[in-house]
Amino acid sequence: MPLATTKTNLFGLDREEMERAALELGEDCFRGRQLYHGIYHDLNFHAEAITSLSKRFRGALAAKFQIALPEILERHPSRDGAARYRIQFPDSNAVESVYMPEERRVTLCLSSQAGCAVECRFCFTALMGLIRNLTAGEILGQVCAVIRDQQISSRMRLNVVFMGMGEPLLNVASVMKAVRIMIDQNALGIPLRRITISTSGIVPGIKALAEEPLRPKLAVSLNASTDEQRVSLMPINRKYPLRDLLAACRAYPLGPREVLTFEYVLLASVNDSLPDALRVAKLLRGMRAKVNLIPYNGGPGLPYRPPSFDRVLDFQEALAARGVPAFIRISRGQDVRAACGQLTLEASQKAG
Ligand code: SAH
Ligand code: SF4
Repeated sequence: MPLATTKTNLFGLDREEMERAALELGEDCFRGRQLYHGIYHDLNFHAEAITSLSKRFRGALAAKFQIALPEILERHPSRDGAARYRIQFPDSNAVESVYMPEERRVTLCLSSQAGCAVECRFCFTALMGLIRNLTAGEILGQVCAVIRDQQISSRMRLNVVFMGMGEPLLNVASVMKAVRIMIDQNALGIPLRRITISTSGIVPGIKALAEEPLRPKLAVSLNASTDEQRVSLMPINRKYPLRDLLAACRAYPLGPREVLTFEYVLLASVNDSLPDALRVAKLLRGMRAKVNLIPYNGGPGLPYRPPSFDRVLDFQEALAARGVPAFIRISRGQDVRAACGQLTLEASQKAG
């Protein structure tokens, strides 16, 4: 066993890196492409099982490399069919991912960092602080580990949302490397339009994403209607105030039918008033945008409450009446702490 841990992990390498690995072992780089296909397309996580490769190459691969997915430490199935996973990496850091099946599709909610540095006051991940960025392999590993555990068929439509732990736009390089492997037809083949990155509003990250030739969908966590209110809920707003954030959003290139999504966590008596709704509508005026309203998901350690459902409906109606389409998102998996903003390792780490 100690030897195995010193082997380089092939899982997480992109096509060029696998081509290089093949060359290193005296094979044609075309063999590297077959290896890439075998791992990410056929989901073979043992070199010996990738029978398109020669026996010699398989042996050489097994001697020098490993193909290791992160380990599923815990699975918490919810009554509503969703499941929260705790997934651990070899350095013993762990993150959480959420599996949300529907009739004809599955949505996977992924983490981009262990913990988060952003300090949003209403978010349980924030209580952990930032532990570290995840690598592309660790991001993709969450997808493949859950696919394998749930035996998700390749015919199922997969959606991926970066709404788990962490701020994806503070780890753009790894997130985009993972996205490129996800969307490749020779790999996981998930359509780009089914991948969403959610950000707390990291303006340089939004600008960097805008420059990408292939962009996932963007969701921006607005969560407030004035700078003052947003600073008190999301201190990051001091660095990237609403003016700059919305300017970056307005400049973000959209496809023909694409709209920007703004998320708005509704906190009772904090940001859920009618004047708030009117100010949000004003902020988004003229943008191709929709708003997802997320009633606060609570838990121990934070002082907020969700508004009554009537109040959520009033907020939605006020936005709609001003031409801003708004949808109420009831988070799934609340009974197993899998809902938006509830992911944190505090309790389970202490238990484990
Ligand atoms: N860091 C990114 C993505 C992860 S958070 C971001 O902030 O956008 C995903 C979503 O959950 C965000 O829209 C965030 O505002 C929301 N959220 C955080 N804590 C929440 C809570 N306690 N209840 C409901 N939604 C929450
Ligand atoms: Fe980080 Fe997003 Fe939570 Fe804010 S809401 S602390 S950015 S994970």
